[in-house]
Amino acid sequence: MTIYLSFIENLSLAIILAFGLVLFAPALCSSALAEDSHHADAKNPWTAETALQALKDGNERVVKGTPIHPNSDQTTKTRLAQEGQFPLAAILSCSDSRAPVERIFDLGFGDIFSIRVAGAVPGVDELGSIEYAVEHLGTPLAMVLHHTQCGAITAAVMGANESDNINSLLKHLDPVSKLVEKLPPEKRVAAAVATSSVYFRDRLTTLSPVLANAVKEGRLKLASGVYDISTGAVSFDD
Ligand SMILES: [Zn+2]
Repeated sequence: MTIYLSFIENLSLAIILAFGLVLFAPALCSSALAEDSHHADAKNPWTAETALQALKDGNERVVKGTPIHPNSDQTTKTRLAQEGQFPLAAILSCSDSRAPVERIFDLGFGDIFSIRVAGAVPGVDELGSIEYAVEHLGTPLAMVLHHTQCGAITAAVMGANESDNINSLLKHLDPVSKLVEKLPPEKRVAAAVATSSVYFRDRLTTLSPVLANAVKEGRLKLASGVYDISTGAVSFDD
């Protein structure tokens, strides 16, 4: 009998807990969203123009060999943890270890909402990440950054056959490969790199109605460029 009662008690407790979870889970979620909305409502101090200038100035310091490594101290990290992030740009760039975004632009913690994937291709996850930065963090600039000697672009242009997952990623680069297929083979990779940034920058608004709307409303500007891995210089497309 005692065992039976104990079972009933445990069952009741389980039911109460289950109901509690059902009742409170939405509250927990909405509280997380509320915190997020709070960040979205607060004003991101950057404009597309000041953000683009910060990227250009930072890269110029890198090329000159005079980086200042801003926003890298403990005070910055504490402030970001307490007040949230207001990145100046969302940058879609390649995973290549020779192209670390914050180092390229001499920026620090909280400055760039960085989306890195081999070939800097805008798949759904990458688009969703850019949308998050624009809609929830008020980021006014989205940039597509490719780089010289990109392995992913080389593989795509040369028609490499890799694993299923790599092939799936390379498929995003098919349109770019097509654009350069009539060029002499030795010129195709460089041309594809130069073409990719502009091509994918322009594709962002085609692939994402959210980004298209943000551009239309004047909340977002798009930029693109190519990073030269040997000199450290970024050439911005304008
Ligand atoms: Zn690459």
